[in-house]
Amino acid sequence: MKDASVAGDAPPSLRRRAESLVAAMETVDPATLTPEAMARLVHKLRVSQAELTLQNEELRRTQAALAHARDRYADLYDFAPAGYFTLDTRGTILEANLKGAALLGRDRADLPGLPFPDLVAPADQAAFAGHLARILETGQADTVEIRLARQGGEPFCAECFLEPRPPLGPAGPACLRMMVTDVTARCEAADARDQAGLILEASPAFLIRYPVADGEPGPVDYVSSNIARFGFSREELLSGAVSPRALVHSGDLARIEATVRKNAAQGVDAFGLDHRLVTKTGQVRYVTDRIRLLRDGQGRVRAVEGLILDVTESVEARQDLETVLDSAPIPIVKVRMTEEGDRVLAYQNPAATRLFGENALEGSCKGFLCNKEVCPALTAESGVVRDRECAVQTLLGERIMYKTARKLPDAPYIIEAMVDVTELMHTRRRLTRAMEAAEAANRAKSEFLATMSHEIRTPMNGVMGMTELALQTDLTPEQREYLDLARQSAVSLLDIINDILDFSRIEAGRVELARVPFSLGQTLAACLRLFDPMAARQNDTLELVLAEDTPDALVGDPGRLAQVLANLVSNGLKFTKNGRVRVTVEPAPPLQCPLEREPCHTVTLLFAVADNGIGIPKAQHERIFDYFTQLDASLSREVGGTGLGLSISKNLVSLLGGRIWIESEPGRGSTFFFTATFEQPPDAAARPAPVRETAAAAEPPLPPLSILLVEDNLINQLVAKRLLERRGHAVTAVDSGYAALDLLRTHPFHCVLMDMEMPGINGLDTLARLRDPAFGQASATPVVALTAHAVKGYRERMFAAGFDGYVSKPIDMGQLDGALRQALARGEARRFGDRP
Ligand code: ADP
Repeated sequence: MKDASVAGDAPPSLRRRAESLVAAMETVDPATLTPEAMARLVHKLRVSQAELTLQNEELRRTQAALAHARDRYADLYDFAPAGYFTLDTRGTILEANLKGAALLGRDRADLPGLPFPDLVAPADQAAFAGHLARILETGQADTVEIRLARQGGEPFCAECFLEPRPPLGPAGPACLRMMVTDVTARCEAADARDQAGLILEASPAFLIRYPVADGEPGPVDYVSSNIARFGFSREELLSGAVSPRALVHSGDLARIEATVRKNAAQGVDAFGLDHRLVTKTGQVRYVTDRIRLLRDGQGRVRAVEGLILDVTESVEARQDLETVLDSAPIPIVKVRMTEEGDRVLAYQNPAATRLFGENALEGSCKGFLCNKEVCPALTAESGVVRDRECAVQTLLGERIMYKTARKLPDAPYIIEAMVDVTELMHTRRRLTRAMEAAEAANRAKSEFLATMSHEIRTPMNGVMGMTELALQTDLTPEQREYLDLARQSAVSLLDIINDILDFSRIEAGRVELARVPFSLGQTLAACLRLFDPMAARQNDTLELVLAEDTPDALVGDPGRLAQVLANLVSNGLKFTKNGRVRVTVEPAPPLQCPLEREPCHTVTLLFAVADNGIGIPKAQHERIFDYFTQLDASLSREVGGTGLGLSISKNLVSLLGGRIWIESEPGRGSTFFFTATFEQPPDAAARPAPVRETAAAAEPPLPPLSILLVEDNLINQLVAKRLLERRGHAVTAVDSGYAALDLLRTHPFHCVLMDMEMPGINGLDTLARLRDPAFGQASATPVVALTAHAVKGYRERMFAAGFDGYVSKPIDMGQLDGALRQALARGEARRFGDRP
């Protein structure tokens, strides 16, 4: 069987021979065969058999060699360094080698049937499709670079060589062979090169390279395009039309070439140089040049490469700064903080050199610039400016410098600028001393004025009181006229004293406003009532007109409002004969409330005092508000005055939150306007309690009281005693605090009227002893303070000290009645434990 199978597989010639042999045997009749013929036949047969065996052997060897060659081919195919793919014309994978599968990160068995275009990165798919179509169309092999997806990894850059190939098998479809190589490294290098190029193009620096032969530069062989910043084109340099030397400023050329030669000789291949270049238009630019020497195998410099950065702006800025520092008249220094904690003078401008000398540089600052006791060290965090005065040792001796120090961020340097303020400090010290002396003098003046006011008021009290008492006796008409004139003179004198006192208080800024509820109508009426006699004497009419919507209940200082009004009305009457003075009040346009959400509790009123008197020329309108200004001295002498009234009024109006102005023409009268702002009680509709002093007239008279009068001045004692007795009170007078306390221990009084300024024990101390609970029953007795001190704030201080009322001298009976009434009410409240 084996032979038959061998014969079956035998080549055609062999078969033909075998068949002819068999046919020859079949034609021979064995019975007729001679032994020789038989022997030849057997021999032929044996030879054929041996031939067959040999041929069989040959065939087996050929088959083994074939199998070996196939295996070697498969190995070569699978483990080739490139991926091999067979694709059909649509790009579907028919076959792939192991390397191809590995490149795509897939199993080789999964690849057949996969469309290769799906494995191409989306951005490159169109390019690949075009490439495929072109190869099919032209039949020409070609290469394309695309990015391929790798399963489970990053896409990679691949070079694909595609060529058409014969169909697989006689009936197979047309197909393509593709060889894929991973060229990621090459792509990255190209990318990096592109990026470097881009960076170089975008950077302010340009790169230039030129060969060197025997120390002589040849034409530029590379220059980046941003040489254009200097006005040259790449072509000009690359063509040799412009030599690298032509770029360099002639003043720097020798130095550059010498440096290059020296470094070339010493084997230094990379170094920096600052020099100047000249642009095509001849402009000089400052550059910093990073130079690299490129050598050949023998170590000879064969090219020079320079990376050149234009630093003109910063060089010019530095030059400007140097100019400023050199010409600055103030010393400016740079101090370096050493690691040992010392400070060293690292730089000083010429002004500082003049002050500290050349030798100061690099010396420790401790001895002269930085006295640590005075100037605490700047810590690393505090880079902020420090301003201070500092004692500094200079060539001129110790000077006081006003120093501004700033620590440079993240650097151990402090920049200090200083101004010599030695003279200024001396002047300041002198000025401070002078100011203190002036303040002391001013205080002395105020005290003197307060004392004078007190001293004058006390006898004035006597004069006025006695005149008042004398006027209440039976007198001849002549005597009455004299006494009336005496009283008027006393009132004028008192006005003058009040004006002077106000003036000195305003000057000292000591005027404070009261803040009490009051009735506007009552305050104005009471104020104008005082001028009725004067108006009658001058044959003037005096009117008060309140606009309908003027609020009546206000909170503020009615006394100061009345004072301003009295000044204006008095002036109006003084300068108007047989005419009219009219006071009008109306709300001024509302003030802006600070916060709109909150209800506005203030009201601004516009007051006008109009007369039809002599008037004032326009040129004088501003001046009359100055201190001591009177327009017509002769007239002033006739009508009286100090020239203080309007200036005091102006100051008071400004304290009342308003302003004052005038409209006037000579011969046509004057109108003084002023505004003032007051608070309104929260419930403005409810009328406030009337001010006691001015409202006293409307109250029923006080019942007869037993009053203890404590007053050391016997005349004033007599005046007060008589005035009180005339009102039906029983008065016991004593001349000291001690006598009063003695008497109070044994005698009850409805009220005590106590002078504040008494020798021995003053009013305050007397009250303190009386109010001591150990004093007994009389300790609750109401006490009214009586004082010639008309200083602002005094009244409040008296109430704070425990007094129940306050009356200033000269005594006004209306005011005294009010104070007594108030004191009795507070005494009552104290007795029943209410807070007064
Ligand atoms: P005096 O106390 O002297 O009146 P004022 O400061 O009140 O001082 O006034 C200054 C000057 O302004 C007055 O002397 C007067 O010349 C002028 N003056 C003030 N009010 C009027 C007025 N209503 N009519 C005319 N002149 C006036």
